[in-house]
Formats: sequence, C-alpha cells, structure tokens
Amino acid sequence: MTSEPALRVIMRRLREIMSEPGDGQQRLDKIVKQIAGVMVAEVCSIYLKRQDGSLELFATEGLNRDAVHAVRMKRGEGLVGRCAELNITVNEPEASSHPAFSYRPETGEEIYHSLLAVPIQRSGQVLGVLVVQNRTQKEYSDEDVEVLQATAMVVAEHLVSGAVAGSGASIEIEKSLSAVIQGEKMADGVALGHVVLHEPRIVVTHLMAEDPAAELVRLDAAIITLRASLDEMFEHEHLSGAGEHRDVLEAYRMFAHDKGWERRLREAVEGGLTAEAAVERVQNSTRARMLRQNDAYWRERQRDLDDLSDRLLRILAGRITSADAPSALPPDTILVARTMGPAELLDYDRRRLRGLIVEDGSGQSHVAVVAKALGIAAVGQARGVVERVTAGDAAIVDATTGEVHLRPSSDVIAAYSDKVRFLARRQRQYRALRDVPAVTADGVRVNLHINAGLLVDMPHLKESGADGVGLFRTELLFMLSNTLPKVERQADSYSAVLARADGKPVVFRTLDIGGDKVLHYLRQPKEENPAMGWRAVRMGLDRPALLRTQVRALLRAAGGQELRLMIPMVSTAAEMDPVRELIDKEHQILIEKGREPPKTIRVGAMVEVPCLLFELDALMKKVDFISVGSNDLMQFMLAADRTNARVGSRYDPLSPAPLRALKTLVKASEKYKVPVTLCGEMAGRPIEALVLIALGFRSLSMAPASIGPVKTMILSLDANRASKLVEDLLKKGTTNIRERIAAFAGAEGIEI
Ligand code: PEP
Ligand code: MG
Repeated sequence: MTSEPALRVIMRRLREIMSEPGDGQQRLDKIVKQIAGVMVAEVCSIYLKRQDGSLELFATEGLNRDAVHAVRMKRGEGLVGRCAELNITVNEPEASSHPAFSYRPETGEEIYHSLLAVPIQRSGQVLGVLVVQNRTQKEYSDEDVEVLQATAMVVAEHLVSGAVAGSGASIEIEKSLSAVIQGEKMADGVALGHVVLHEPRIVVTHLMAEDPAAELVRLDAAIITLRASLDEMFEHEHLSGAGEHRDVLEAYRMFAHDKGWERRLREAVEGGLTAEAAVERVQNSTRARMLRQNDAYWRERQRDLDDLSDRLLRILAGRITSADAPSALPPDTILVARTMGPAELLDYDRRRLRGLIVEDGSGQSHVAVVAKALGIAAVGQARGVVERVTAGDAAIVDATTGEVHLRPSSDVIAAYSDKVRFLARRQRQYRALRDVPAVTADGVRVNLHINAGLLVDMPHLKESGADGVGLFRTELLFMLSNTLPKVERQADSYSAVLARADGKPVVFRTLDIGGDKVLHYLRQPKEENPAMGWRAVRMGLDRPALLRTQVRALLRAAGGQELRLMIPMVSTAAEMDPVRELIDKEHQILIEKGREPPKTIRVGAMVEVPCLLFELDALMKKVDFISVGSNDLMQFMLAADRTNARVGSRYDPLSPAPLRALKTLVKASEKYKVPVTLCGEMAGRPIEALVLIALGFRSLSMAPASIGPVKTMILSLDANRASKLVEDLLKKGTTNIRERIAAFAGAEGIEI
C-alpha cells in the first residue's frame, strides 16, 4: 500500500460520508468500515475519551458489535489507553504479549495479533484513539502509520464540529443543564453537595526496567507500604467495630497478602518489567482468568483486585491519596465514580463525604457495604453520570428513590433541603418513640423485632427500640466469606451478635443457601427453578455436615443463654424430626465436651411453603414457635416469582385468599399456644402491618427502618375495630381490601 493513494481514497470517502444524511453514530460506523477497507485491516475501531479520561469504544468494524459503548478502558489502561494518555503512536506486531495489553474478552479481539493505534487529537488535546488490528503478526509500515495519523486528524475535525457522535460541543452544552439520572439505591439516605470526580488511575509510562534488582526492591517496598496502609486504614475510627464491612475488608486485606499475587508480581519484575508494568501485567492476566468465571463473586473479587492494583500503582508513583489531603475536598463532597472498590472509598475523608454516585455499583457490591457502614447516601447504576458532571457541580443523591440530580435548580434544592429536614424530623420523632412500647390505642401490645443479617445491623436494635431480632439471616456471613467458615469463626460471629443484642432475644435462622444464593466454594448444581430447588433445610438435611457445623457453632455461642433456632423452607412437619435429632445430638456432644450449653433451646419452623398450612396440627406439636416467611409464602401461594418484576407485585397480599391463609395460622398458633411471628416484607409496611395485627398477629419482624413507621401506626390504632373490619371484609370476600383499610386509617387518623 502506498500512502498517497490510500490517504486520498480515505479523504474522499470521509468527505462523502460527511455529506450523506445520517446521525453521528451512523457516520462513525461508516468511517471505521471505510478505513478498515482501505487499510486492509480486519479491525478498525474508534475510542473516544470520556470526562474521567476513560476511553469508550464508540464504533468498530471487526470487533463484536455488542462491545460498542459497552467497553471502556480506564484512563491509561491497555495499549489504547497508553496511546491516549501519552499521546503516542503504538505499533505492536504482537499486541497481546505487550506488558500493557488489557484483555477485554467482550470485544473478541484475542484472534488479532498486530495493532496500530494513533491518538485522535485537536489543538494538542487528545479526544480519542483510532485503532486498526490484523490477524497476522506484522509491524505496520511508516506509510500505514502516516495514513492512520492523517485520518485521525480528519476524524478529530469532525468530532469537534459535532458532525459525528461524541462531539465535545454537545457534551459541553449538556453539562451546563440540570439533569436527573435514575439509578438504584446502594446505601440509604439523602445528600446535597458538590461533585468530586474520582480519578483512580495512574498511567504507567516506563515499561522496561533498567535495573531489575533495584526494581524488585521498589516493588517489595511498595507491597510493604500497601499492606501497612491497609492495616492502618482498617483501624479507622469509623470502621474499627465488627460488622459485615469488616468481613469485606478482611477479604480485601487477604488479597493484599496473597502469596500467589506477590509471586506473580515478582516474576514479572524478574522478567525485566518495571514494578508498575508488572502490576498492570498481573492485573490483566488475573482479570482474564476471573472474567471467565461468570459470576457475581468473581466480579466482586476482580473489583477488589483492580482497586488493590491501582493503590499499589499510586504507592509506586509516590502519589498522596486523598485521605492525606482532606482540605482538597469540599466539606459536602458527593463522590462520582465509574467504579469504586471498598478501600478506595476509605481513602476519602469520611467527615467530608456526603454522598456517592457510581456508574456500575449495586446494592450488593462491597463498596455499598462500606458506604452503609459509613452512613453515606449512595446510588449505583447511575448510567452516564461521569460524562455529565464537572468537578464542583452541585448534586443531590436521593438513595430513597435511587435518583441523582445534577446541577439542580434552586426549586429542587429547596425541595430537597425540605426533604432532608423532614427526614431528620421524622427520624427524631421515631427516635422519640424508641422507648415507648408498641401498644395500640385499645391496649394491645405488639412485639416489634428487627430483621438482621450482619453485625453492622445490630446497633439498630437499640436505636430503634425493637424488642429483639426476629430473623437473623445467617447466610450473609457465609456469602461474604472466601471459604466455608469454620466452627470457631462462626461461633465468634454468633457470640458477637448475641453480645450486641444485650439480652434481647435473637432468632437465628439456619442457612438459607441454595437457589440464587450461591456459595462459590460449595459445589451446587445449576438448577432450572432455584427458588423451588435444593435450598435451605433441604440442603441442610442432605448435607448434614454443613447444618451440624452451624448448629454446633450456635450452641457454643449461646452457652448459658437462650438459643432460638429457626429452620427455613420447611415443607412437611416431618422434616422437623431429623432437624431436632441433629440439634439434640450436638447438644449432647457439647455437654460431653464439658462446654456450657445454652440455658434453653427453642426451635421454630418458618412457614414459607403453602403445603404446611394443611399440616398445622402436626407441625405445631413439633415446634416451639413459628415464623411466617411471607415473601416466600406469597410467591409460592400465588405462583408469582418474587424476583420477577413483572409478576412479583402483581397480586396483593391484602386479598381474601392470602389473608385467610394467615388467619388460619394465627388460629392454629392460638390453639396450640405456639407463638407466631411474621418476618417477611409485609410486616414492615404500616398498612399491611395494620391488617396483620387485625388478623391477630402480636409479633412482627421487619427492617430496622420500618420500626418507627409501624410503631407510629400502632399507637393510633384501635386493634379491636380493625379486627372487626377485616373479619367483615374477609367474610364478604371483598376484593379491594387495601382501599378499604386505607379509608379506615384515614377516618381514624392512623398514619400508614
Ligand atoms: C421470607 O421468605 O419472607 C423471609 C423472611 O425469608 P427470605 O426473605 O430471606 O427468603
Ligand atoms: Mg424466605
């Protein structure tokens, strides 16, 4: 190929493309196709720079189409990132063996060997990268380089003029307007403040080390600093207590101490790379391995590794972290990030952080756990937020609705200031009710308990003034652990829970694992119908070692105290027999070993499988209490998957059939004098709690935040009148029960 004709051809085609009708994206698509054709390349792609310096794949000929707008290289990541960051041409015959190569399986690029990347720049500013790739291993000729560089200049012109997608101009205009982004709650709360963009990436410029021995010394020193800084960070005043975040951070710290990781880093340096390049190399190869494991656990681990690698790079670069320079942060910081690891968040000064907005975070992510522990309002899945903000912008994070308001108008700010004040007032009112017993206006005492699953939830017991923990979901400890927690570790966790309960009762639910709650270290078969699959007590009975270990740990933890054990997903009363046997046996062993046994052991069953409703006489004789898992009970009674948004809320639990089922349970509990509680989501919604009390429930367990609203409802409720109404509605088979109850509450001045 000679440069002149090729270049001329490309220029002519680009002119044609620009004169044809079509939007910016269509033009970019045509451009990459033309360049690939003229340059005889199997792949031609355009990456454009985003606000945070990351590069997004905007158009491609040859790579997977699905990767367009989905693949983003972090600032300086990979060969494309290097090209943009250092403003250099990259010409690699065997790209994947280059130390800076970043493996992105989504693109399908692994079959291409050679790569030529040139910056798309205008007035010295890099706007993006233009790349061609070929299957064969070849070094591109000087002519190829020239053609591509000249083409990139033309593309830059069109980008700036706004004729093709991603025009800087259009983003700039958008960035001056108010905008609302709908995301998802990660950590509750509402926060007003100013944007700080999180820029974690250090760009690696030197790849090959001149003195490998000296480089090894640098690496070792950096690893020591890394570990020490993590130790110090985790002793942070806000985090020193135990809790779920503790487990997350422990897992993270273990990663930093991983011998395999250290060995791979050292090997890379011994192979001639600089310490920085070694970090990138190992990060990329580990990512490639982890991405092959397509599950949430590994994605989370990968995030931890990315976070750790970025941290190590910062240490190698001698760059101070934000925590060292708190004054740089505004006092009402709203942190905006593409992705964020748990420890990265801890780099910031907690006292200045109000909110967090992450593009890809979810409520289950580790950073969400840390945000909750720090009490920061956080929203995830905020698509495109990084592009749409500038540092210093005003922003509002409303985790109650999952909304993010960028550059809000003064009206919105005023409304939110009111909302924050209102929430604070509400909280104060609820707090004022803390020590007021939940007794209805006509004198009916209702026990209110909280649902918990982590140590970090336990302080809510005191704060809310609840009577105890009605449901402690033990599986969360297992889900956060890297390996099956041994009996000692479990016992420690359960004792810590009991200690924090301060004498109030705690109902421990045995493992409800299986179905969609997967423990990666347990071999679990893939199931068509996980909710109705091999889960909870079914697994516990088939794999008794698992249940036995847990029971052993619980018995040890509750030495000298009362132990309440609750069995999930019981399907037939007879299942309680082997469970009892197992508990009795463990109890015996404990005594034989001379350990102090619990003062009393109470064993209950969850009513979640509808079949049990027809076996209540048998069940009641085998249990000390029952607890209705209404989330599961409703999904199975109504055959409506609780996780499927289309059907999950299609049927109202405040309908005759489900309410009659609940009434049957209350009657059986009264007949056999077996206490009954309801611990599904229903219990926490005031209007539904009202109906439950009317049906005869005297014990409810709910999310801690629901205690205040439910207690407020109870204090103004006449339970007797409500009972009569509900009885009447059920007798008549009224279908609009919810409306009728709402009208009743309105007339009686009950806050629901
Ligand atoms: C329920 O099913 O109502 C319940 C409380 O258990 P989980 O939500 O953990 O399944
Ligand atoms: Mg359940």
